[in-house]
Amino acid sequence: MLLGEREEEIPIDDALFPSRSNPDAPVHGGVRKAASFMKQDLGLLRQQLDSLAAAAASCAGPGAPDDGPALLACEEAWEAVRVGNYGVGAVLLAPSGQVVARGRNQVFHPQFHSDLHAEMVALNAFEETHGAMSDLGGHVLVTSVEPCPMCAARLILARVPKVLYVAADEGGGMARGLDRLPPSFRKLAELQVFAPADVSTALRKLASDLFIHNLEALRALLFKRLGPTGCGAHDLAT
Ligand SMILES: [Zn+2]
Repeated sequence: MLLGEREEEIPIDDALFPSRSNPDAPVHGGVRKAASFMKQDLGLLRQQLDSLAAAAASCAGPGAPDDGPALLACEEAWEAVRVGNYGVGAVLLAPSGQVVARGRNQVFHPQFHSDLHAEMVALNAFEETHGAMSDLGGHVLVTSVEPCPMCAARLILARVPKVLYVAADEGGGMARGLDRLPPSFRKLAELQVFAPADVSTALRKLASDLFIHNLEALRALLFKRLGPTGCGAHDLAT
């Protein structure tokens, strides 16, 4: 198991709304925080995606080993953003490199489903069609953004040997925090790899831009689902 360095604690407001609380915070390689937390126009992101795909197809781009599946994951992410979902996509590859399942975030559209993150959608699709498969050796899931705690746990339970993420998620990613899971999950994950994908800088930035495009607005909707008072003072006191 590949365990990353423990990240510094980020206060919840910094993690979810970095531009509010600390506009000068430093930028760490993945999903960018604070100063660069600026939304790109969706049409411009589409152009960038097409340009990177064209460069990869013609071998004219900078190129990196995981650029191919990362582009497919970003394509799914763009489609997710386009209809109002979180900008995250994922593809599952067989040992041959063939795409055997793909998924995009579907939490908000067409209707709210809290569990339909891109990785979950891809795994659901795979397990529905490959339910009899007992050996996933050589399979790789490539996701455009570092898996959240829910998806990291699912990927461990699904026994996907290798998980690669294009952009790190400083506020919600779990791939670099697997050492904080309960012991049984850590044990299960011992032979699995969670690691950054080896992609070009431009592609990593695009994955990050797709993710943050509507992130703040959608997380605000999540907060609203608790209602105006959340669990309420009465419930807290009882
Ligand atoms: Zn997730």
